[in-house]
Amino acid sequence: MKLMKNALVILAGGKGNRFGGDIPKQFRKYGENNFIEHLLSNILPINLDIIVISCEKKYISKYLNKIGKIVKDTKLIFSDPGNTRQESSFKALKKLKYYKPKNVLIHDSARPLVSNKLLKTILLCLRNNFVVVPYIKYNDRMINTNQAEMKNIKNIQTPQGFNFSHIYDAHKKFKNESLLDDASLIQKLGKKIKYIKGEKTNLKITYPEDIKFFNLLQKTTYRYGIGFDIHRFDLNSNKGLKLCGTNLPYSKLIGHSDADVCIHAICDSIFGALSMNDIGYYFSNEDSQWKNVNSKIFLNYCKKLLIKKGYKIINLDINIICEKPNINKYRDKMKKNLSKILSISEKIISIKATTNEKIGFIGNGKGIASEALIHICNEHNY
Ligand code: ZN
Repeated sequence: MKLMKNALVILAGGKGNRFGGDIPKQFRKYGENNFIEHLLSNILPINLDIIVISCEKKYISKYLNKIGKIVKDTKLIFSDPGNTRQESSFKALKKLKYYKPKNVLIHDSARPLVSNKLLKTILLCLRNNFVVVPYIKYNDRMINTNQAEMKNIKNIQTPQGFNFSHIYDAHKKFKNESLLDDASLIQKLGKKIKYIKGEKTNLKITYPEDIKFFNLLQKTTYRYGIGFDIHRFDLNSNKGLKLCGTNLPYSKLIGHSDADVCIHAICDSIFGALSMNDIGYYFSNEDSQWKNVNSKIFLNYCKKLLIKKGYKIINLDINIICEKPNINKYRDKMKKNLSKILSISEKIISIKATTNEKIGFIGNGKGIASEALIHICNEHNY
């Protein structure tokens, strides 16, 4: 068996009664991820050999099916929770005992914002200490406390780091007593604890209002996507052209759907920003259900994807490349349409037109090309 040096236990067996809701808060999605996914994405990669998640079995397949992809090569196991935090923690340690880890970090899933840096610091301190506990001090004055007492008040956080056999033995010894956290067991044994500076941002989310702070502390991720499309005119027609959902009195474009070249380019830019496949993958031109359909359907699908994945559009820049028709007259209408379909302000949409200087296929008036560049960011408004 591979030598297991560092283990992480994530306690996710809580019901979250103070938070409320149908499912425990740690399994609910906040943007693309639930708390456990947020937590693992924040802390990995780190030098961990094994992760134990303590949670009820019924939640694993439903809410934790993405975890394997996040933890990659780190071994992942699950452990049933107990009736109390202490019981859950001991059950997880019992499972870990088989792997003989040297160190174990025990963490609450209600603290999804802990940094990779804090975990690294705790692991580093465990080289010379058996127990390492992060703490913070609040700036607010406390009543019923004198100055001297104030100095000693520490607000304890997780993850708490332990030499595995130390914490295992402490749990065994106090298994019939109920203590607040793992460090309290060590304290009761009278063993030395190394306190290190924690992080104010390592917030414990207990009440619904705490989500406001969680939102503020989220990192903003910006993503960009480009899209390009080109369609040929049906020069036998003199009407039916559609650009950005707007009808123009000019020859229609040939395509499987309504051939709205601009909307196709915008869809591809959104798929690109979300690191997905191209429009043809989702709306194949061999699929009869998309024959002659309004391309608004495709754009609406993309809008829903953005919402589902927790992103909002910051800017949309579109180029239309053709000799004819003149786009100027229709620009405002086009913006209005896109703004309506995507539920974004017209102010963040730019529609620019250019000719191809009479060069090539487009220059000869045989078709229209369009390109779109989209700029999105994750929305923290859960
Ligand atoms: Zn197209």
